[in-house]
Amino acid sequence: MDLVELNKRVREAREAAEARGETFYPGPSRIHLAAFPPKERWSDWVELDSKAWPARVEKRFMLVPTTCFNCESACGLLAYVDKDTLQIRKFEGNPEHPGSRGRNCAKGPATLNQITDPDRILYPLKRSGSRGEGKWVRVTWDEALDDIAGRIRGAIRDGRANEIMYHVGRPGEDGFTERVLAAWGVDGHNTHTNVCSSGGRAGYHYWLGLDRPSPDHANADVILLISSHLEAGHYFNPHAQRVIEAKQRGAKLIVIDTRLSNTATHADHWVAPHPGSEAAILLAIANDLIRRGRYDREFVRRWWNWQQYLECEHPGAPPTFDYFEEVLKTLYAGYTFEFAAAESGVDEHVLRTIAEVVASAGTKLSTHTWRSASAGNLGGWQVPRCLFLLNALLGAVATEGGTYPNAWNKFVPRPIYVPPHPPAWNELTWPREYPLAINELSFLLPHFLKDGRGRLEVYFTRVYNPVWTNPDGFSWIEALTDERLVGLHVALTPTWSETAFFADYVLPMGHASERHDLHSYEQYDGQWIAFRQPVLRAARERLGEHIADSRQVNPGEVWEENEFWIELSWRIDPDGSLGIRRFFESQQAPGHKLGIDEYYGFIFDHSVPRLPDRAAAEGLTPLGFMRRYGAFEIQKRIGPIYAAPVPHGELDDVRTDRFGRVYTRAPAPPDPNIVPTGSPEPDVEGRRPVGVRVDGEILRGFPTPSGRMEFYSRTLADWGWPEHALPTYIKSHVHRDRLAPDQMVLISTFRLPVQIHTRSANAKWLDEIAHTNPLWIHPLDARGIAVRTGDLVRVETEIGYFVVKAWVTEGIRPGVVACSHHMGRWKVGDAGQRQMMATVALEREDRSWLMRRTEGVGPYPSADPDTLKIWWTDVGVHQNLTFPVHPDPISGQHCWHQAVRVRKAAAGERYGDIAVDTRRAAAAFREWLALTRGADDHSPDGTRRPYWLMRPLRPSKGAYRLPDRAAPAGVGAG
Ligand code: SF4
Repeated sequence: MDLVELNKRVREAREAAEARGETFYPGPSRIHLAAFPPKERWSDWVELDSKAWPARVEKRFMLVPTTCFNCESACGLLAYVDKDTLQIRKFEGNPEHPGSRGRNCAKGPATLNQITDPDRILYPLKRSGSRGEGKWVRVTWDEALDDIAGRIRGAIRDGRANEIMYHVGRPGEDGFTERVLAAWGVDGHNTHTNVCSSGGRAGYHYWLGLDRPSPDHANADVILLISSHLEAGHYFNPHAQRVIEAKQRGAKLIVIDTRLSNTATHADHWVAPHPGSEAAILLAIANDLIRRGRYDREFVRRWWNWQQYLECEHPGAPPTFDYFEEVLKTLYAGYTFEFAAAESGVDEHVLRTIAEVVASAGTKLSTHTWRSASAGNLGGWQVPRCLFLLNALLGAVATEGGTYPNAWNKFVPRPIYVPPHPPAWNELTWPREYPLAINELSFLLPHFLKDGRGRLEVYFTRVYNPVWTNPDGFSWIEALTDERLVGLHVALTPTWSETAFFADYVLPMGHASERHDLHSYEQYDGQWIAFRQPVLRAARERLGEHIADSRQVNPGEVWEENEFWIELSWRIDPDGSLGIRRFFESQQAPGHKLGIDEYYGFIFDHSVPRLPDRAAAEGLTPLGFMRRYGAFEIQKRIGPIYAAPVPHGELDDVRTDRFGRVYTRAPAPPDPNIVPTGSPEPDVEGRRPVGVRVDGEILRGFPTPSGRMEFYSRTLADWGWPEHALPTYIKSHVHRDRLAPDQMVLISTFRLPVQIHTRSANAKWLDEIAHTNPLWIHPLDARGIAVRTGDLVRVETEIGYFVVKAWVTEGIRPGVVACSHHMGRWKVGDAGQRQMMATVALEREDRSWLMRRTEGVGPYPSADPDTLKIWWTDVGVHQNLTFPVHPDPISGQHCWHQAVRVRKAAAGERYGDIAVDTRRAAAAFREWLALTRGADDHSPDGTRRPYWLMRPLRPSKGAYRLPDRAAPAGVGAG
């Protein structure tokens, strides 16, 4: 049977299954065979024991779902629990999960390595020497909790609530911990997002009021990616499988990536531009669409805020769409293919070809970028803004095969308690210089602390490793080892990290099969919710046991965070006098702690539409259903919500402004989906925005200030950046004009498909596949410095250098080098992972640091006999230590690309050498800080930040006001 026939049969099988209302299992057999264990048999599944082969020995399993914790995709996993030993034997995909549909990448099954890791942290530890000295003693949970709670209670009582900070890397959950901090009344939420995706988010947010795209790849005719989605991009596996489905249907794939990624190898059109020139290419395509009139004129007329643009930027001009179209042509006329070719180095005719393919997509153009160029470049946030301009021109917005705003394909349910917004503003995370930053300026924290802007009494790092992940790690070490700046550092982590070495407490948290969380992510045009759970708890409960605490089933004293935060909150406020405890009390048994079953049972009973009925049909409670199947699809084919009429009941004494924004006095209807959909400016004469008037009809619109898609951002114009109010091209800090003749651009951001930032160091299967990060260098450049593959090269940044091996390849553009950031894990002493962490010596003279490798990895005896088989010694080089901070002055995104000098390593320079001068790092921080236009000088209304912009853990409205500014009339405190 040829591939075409196979695909036809798959399609027919899917359609037949869906017509019967059944789930289709698209398994590796390619036809509807039993590719996955049918869910009816999950309580007693029989397989032959592969280790007993050739004997046919049956093993009986209970299959328990949970959710992968190894990237942001939250794919479903099925744990195979051996019914004889009650041990997890393996993890495979959960076919009931609507996002991943039974499939995983290599990191999913490798969860087994993480839970059986012989070097993992199993008990609470407290440092016994000086911070960073590497001496630890085991303590009880009670001891740690009482100490931490006492310090937090003291800070809150003394009015020092801003000295409490929780800094999260991989959240892996939707809002639980934000609500914990809100309950404490603390503006202490900090994320990793500004070293990750705030550039990507900003570009979408200014268009849509929502900060992510949700491309419908599966139904697209043309897919345009500025990323490496088929191996590592955002929502990688769920998106990758849909990209491939589309390709099998005949969709065209365009990939813009300077590096020949695995995704680029699958592209119909791959272009490798000079880093930072991506927006120039996109605007040339846009110009071509505009110039030739190949855009959806009606869509643009109805949904862009062109009237507002004309009034603000062309006062006195005719306020007509015809006139706007004339202006539009002139706005982008300079972005010719010739210009884009000169900027990008990509051949002009290739760009013309791509533009033609894009134009042919119509409303079936799915596009995506997330980190990549938007995280690499000064002004990178304009890359998603320019990419979405193509969707906005073609009307490929919330269409089948187009790109949706994320929140419409995501579902966050209302929990049992919603604490009020904290009444405080923390300038350590939201400094006045960055009023438009999409997320916290987290990676500047050491500089702010050292500059005396504040101190921390209690600093939690949670599944976050800033010493290793962030740029400028030595400045982090300097701050973390100064007890005047950080009073207590608590590392909540399932595994050792470079940051945990500099903690006071290291508290063991659960991996994917050892904790509860809820998820919902935008992966196709539908909404689903998935449930992570401690697998052995669910298995033992099926056998009739009662499990009250995840530590009863987890290894050692590994805990889950939900239970940890509830317990800690009780100890902060033991008698309820601080008003905190009430958010962690049972409603079923007043005066007692909120239990996990009650917490999730409430959500599944009350906040997830259709789940109770679906569960009842199987004779299960909603919680029982989620424990049994792990995921639930709430609805699919959401469609264009923006075009839905606003129900009559929501319209009361409405007012419409001159651009069509409609405000109502009617209260917002109770909405079980509390996704933060942005808060357009509220309280216009006591009314809230409810929709937008389009051709006489009041439609839902977008959660932007204008209610329309904001081609023109009045916010950017009003807050000091009028030159960037439209989708435009900002020359990167690594633009060729800014490079010295002997400098190259280093791309440092790409992931390896089989590693995780800092949690996979002891996932042995993954380590064996990928354990090093050579420097990609083009043969022309390699020849220029007389380097061959395997030779050592020294890569010099603004603040130091690292020494790494070269890999000579035509998979990278000349003038550019690339090195994956996943590698180069290290430890100073004995504590740490032994499969992927080299041992290093750290030397310091004042603020000059030198790291030298003393030992690579190798075989070692442990509880796992496989550790004796470790054959690799190399674990790569930690390049991020040598990068200074580069905060984009608008989005706040760290701009990762580096201008570097590369030369052959000199005699005496050794593999893994890293040298940094943190005085130069501090100077770089100040240089970039000087690029900002802060709220003090540019706020148009005396607030710190536009209220409608998203903000995790939004404070009360009163906290938005700059301390020395009075509120203008009509703006009240919240
Ligand atoms: S893509 Fe891989 S690592 Fe990410 S959630 Fe899915 S299985 Fe886990």
